[in-house]
Amino acid sequence: MEIVGSIKTYDWGSVGSKSKVAQLALSNDENFAKEFNETTPYAELWMGDHESGPSLLKSTGESIAKIVASDSSLIGGSTSLPFLFKVLSITKPLSIQVHPNKEQAEQLHASRPDLYKDPNHKPEIAIALTDFLALCGFRTPDEMYKLLKKYQPIIDLLGIDTIEELQKNPNNDSIKTVYKKLMHSPQAAVDKCISDLSLIFNEKKENELLTKVFDHCNHYFPNDIGVLSIFFLNIVQMNPGQSIFLAANVPHAYLSGDCVECMACSDNVIRAGLTPKFKDVDTLLANLDYSGKTAQENFFESVTIGPYSELFKPPVNDFAVVQVKVPATVQNYCVENRANGSIILVLKGNASADFNGQLIELKEGSIVFVPAHIQNIVLTLKHSDDNGFVAYQALYNDF
Ligand SMILES: [Zn+2]
Repeated sequence: MEIVGSIKTYDWGSVGSKSKVAQLALSNDENFAKEFNETTPYAELWMGDHESGPSLLKSTGESIAKIVASDSSLIGGSTSLPFLFKVLSITKPLSIQVHPNKEQAEQLHASRPDLYKDPNHKPEIAIALTDFLALCGFRTPDEMYKLLKKYQPIIDLLGIDTIEELQKNPNNDSIKTVYKKLMHSPQAAVDKCISDLSLIFNEKKENELLTKVFDHCNHYFPNDIGVLSIFFLNIVQMNPGQSIFLAANVPHAYLSGDCVECMACSDNVIRAGLTPKFKDVDTLLANLDYSGKTAQENFFESVTIGPYSELFKPPVNDFAVVQVKVPATVQNYCVENRANGSIILVLKGNASADFNGQLIELKEGSIVFVPAHIQNIVLTLKHSDDNGFVAYQALYNDF
């Protein structure tokens, strides 16, 4: 079933035709093309049946949520998809956030249904499509200690005794102590710290990446407490194809670039900075995963499952993602469907796809919901361009 995704125009999105989200939707969705505007930020393309933006059947405009709910054989016995599949195009930083685990999500939803809209957890994976910058997980206590001690404005803000804790007791508790101190700092002190740091970063460009991320965050969110998070969290630079997996309670923020994202079907976010929205600081501090890691330890490795297929299989059963990259020199390639169905998004190239005898012409932006009874999808590549064929497939992680 060919579908069109739901487009989200959040403020942080890339603008107009610079946005990958817009490029894909322009190619796949006539109605989007009519409303397209060069000054609108196109942030997210949603593929799935989430009630805040279900995909629509391309031929009839019918909601995929309705179709799936009315025929449980389509996704192997269930009446809703366990995952939500997305493309993100990011220009301004997204808020620093964590997602609750299942138990916490149930409690949060029960006590604050206005803020936490569903009772589900929201682990997520991001696979970079371009050079991609993110903050992800706490730094190791040692690295954090050395970094914080290097900048006098930070010492003035947090106090040297608090920072020394990281060296005396290099563990989760000391990370919690210093981060809590930061998050409870009065705004006037944060203002002073950030403006003093700006002077230092402008003078000496010794840590290029830190300077770049500081300027990027402070440009869009001047004097926001989240700007100072860059000293606590790992700065992760991803190349296309590299990925990070965000388990429950791992603090993160996407800063810039395009990515494919897949998550459990939920919208639960606890925010901690770089946002004009409500910051639920106490809930955040109580729920955070304070274990320190290196930036490198945050990368999530894929497994090769075919000559041109890489599988990203995170340790949750809600979802997995397959990356298919077929070079232009190959004529035919078979993509496996799974027992519970899948959603395929074409990023690049042209191919005829045979779904158990039904042929669909695939091009950049095509999205296909593949029901459970289809076993294999046979691609015949068209060689109108020599860039090959690239697609991502989201599926239930039950294999
Ligand atoms: Zn997130």
